[in-house]
Amino acid sequence: MSKLTRFSQLTPLPAESSWFRPYRLFPGVTAIFEPFHFQEVMSYLIEGEDRALLLDSGMGFGNIKATVEALTDKPITLVNSHSHFDHVGDNWRFPETHLLDLPEYIQRLEAGQCFQADNENRKPEALWYPGPVWFDLKTWVTKPSCPVVPIREGHVFDLGRRRLRVIATPGHTRDSIMLSDDENKLLFTGDTVYPAPLYAYIEGPEMIPIYAQTMERLAREYSEYTLLCSHNDPIWEGAALGEIARAFQAVLSGKAGAAEADPKTSGDNIVYPFGDFSIVLTRQALTTLGLEG
Ligand SMILES: [Zn+2]
Repeated sequence: MSKLTRFSQLTPLPAESSWFRPYRLFPGVTAIFEPFHFQEVMSYLIEGEDRALLLDSGMGFGNIKATVEALTDKPITLVNSHSHFDHVGDNWRFPETHLLDLPEYIQRLEAGQCFQADNENRKPEALWYPGPVWFDLKTWVTKPSCPVVPIREGHVFDLGRRRLRVIATPGHTRDSIMLSDDENKLLFTGDTVYPAPLYAYIEGPEMIPIYAQTMERLAREYSEYTLLCSHNDPIWEGAALGEIARAFQAVLSGKAGAAEADPKTSGDNIVYPFGDFSIVLTRQALTTLGLEG
């Protein structure tokens, strides 16, 4: 199984805000972790010689702009790995952001995305903050984003002695991207790859084979890279890409073995466990793909 480095093995930097835990993972690469909501999301501050890039702006419960400005003096370019609420919450604090060039997604992000209504993200047990919080999870709404600059596969963010290349990675969502630092062999994976349940059905059953294709491509091209993930724990060996690609093939060929009911949701989600990660589908998706039973 691919080696995983957990936050529990690392020491955080001093933080400007009690909501965030920044961890310096490599020179110029800092994970900005949000450990007090069960999403356990992280954004990444990636520094070159001239500029810094912030990949995602978190849930919006803390001020990520002040937190990253305490860590770097360089001008910051904001990029979103995709437009889910837990990655865009503090976009509004920045002058602009970047998202894959899909007009429907860009319009939705700029119009203001609601924090999903009354699901498990809003339950009191979703929050682990030790003490009173300054926001009401029940009524929380993500603020409309700053203006969005569209980007495409192959776009390069040149930070000065560090270049980050955009890879379109449809699967988790249609607007998902990864950023590749080819010189340092680092791959910032967003929500397409992380060591936890991988939600493959969110944008419909037709996305599941597309997610599988994305994983095949990533396994072919980036297995030598170090993966920097956006949920739960940060550093994963690139061989995990092949493990996930093979897991998708096993699920799609009906050879994945027993699935379990998803313990996190009350719906009809089913989970295929594979060690440090799992693949989550719905019964409806299985029926649509002809895999039920
Ligand atoms: Zn997501």
